[in-house]
Amino acid sequence: MRIGNGFDVHKFTKNRELFLGGIKIPYELGLEGHSDADVLLHAICDAILGAIGLGDIGLHFPDNDLSYKNIASKELLKKTNKMLKDKSYKICNIDATIIAEKPKISPYRDKIKQNIANILNIDFEKINIKATTTEQLGFIGRKQGIAAMCVVLIDNI
Ligand code: ZN
Repeated sequence: MRIGNGFDVHKFTKNRELFLGGIKIPYELGLEGHSDADVLLHAICDAILGAIGLGDIGLHFPDNDLSYKNIASKELLKKTNKMLKDKSYKICNIDATIIAEKPKISPYRDKIKQNIANILNIDFEKINIKATTTEQLGFIGRKQGIAAMCVVLIDNI
């Protein structure tokens, strides 16, 4: 068995849709980034890459590569999942935390879990998504952005 962790932050920006876990979340602001800036999927990609010992998301999908401009991050997660398969590993479980003052994540939690399960082709029960705030402290508390953390455990196929 191997374990990996991932962490990511994106700042809010106007005139962009907000995507979390591949799901469009209704909110007045979106996240800024080279791709669709799906902070949760990026943290999951990084956790998987960490577990298989293949660096990080910036190494595989650099933000100066135009082919990744505005790409849906689920495509990055699919590619990452292929790297995992190519190394003959499978996901045991994923535990992720979204850290945001706004918007409220709980109404979308199951939808996000199901979407990630579909992208990775694993059971819904293998994914846990938590959400928390920073009690109005710091940049997240000031609603300047969203952070996400993820831990993944993998095992040989
Ligand atoms: Zn990111």
